[in-house]
Amino acid sequence: MDIIETLTEKFRSFPGIGSRQAHRFVYYLLMRPQSELDELASLIQRLRAHVRTCSACNRFFTPTGDEALCKTCADPNRDAGLLLVVEKDVDLDAIERGNSYSGHYFVLGGSIPVLDEQPQTKIRVTQLITLVQARAQQGDLREVIIALSATPQGDNTAEYVRQQLAPYSDRYNISITVLGRGLSTGSELEYADPDTISSALHNRQ
Ligand SMILES: [Zn+2]
Repeated sequence: MDIIETLTEKFRSFPGIGSRQAHRFVYYLLMRPQSELDELASLIQRLRAHVRTCSACNRFFTPTGDEALCKTCADPNRDAGLLLVVEKDVDLDAIERGNSYSGHYFVLGGSIPVLDEQPQTKIRVTQLITLVQARAQQGDLREVIIALSATPQGDNTAEYVRQQLAPYSDRYNISITVLGRGLSTGSELEYADPDTISSALHNRQ
């Protein structure tokens, strides 16, 4: 493979990018000045070193100092009684854009394919259980909202998370809810508009 093909392959591995788009990216880069390419390469090179995962919710954030918590987790005005579980960072961003949720978050970091035999290796379920227990023991957790995409894989993941949390729900008297109607079947959370998300949150069950 020559360099054009190799770079096309790299772009093609990005979420939602097909080979035609990937090719267009490469030709676009070839039209840009070298300084812009250098800047892009440098940003990519420095990305990991400048971004951290929040020690509570696991979202990516850019720390200003040595803080371990993201802005949302560190915000005393957020409702500590609510914990909303999402698959990935872009889903969390989509919910924040909806402006109708004021609780805390947890990013699972993946989802579980239907009939998967090792679900516990696909998502941060152990970490979620530890967090739920800790919050429940502090006495401030009332509800865990499972907010996953309305796809077979999303439903499968939601069911698994619900089963795993069930014993703690009984023990600590926490409700476990899922997003209600509003998200049509097959829809990915990250692409849902703010109104749809608000209504799905409002109608959680
Ligand atoms: Zn956080």
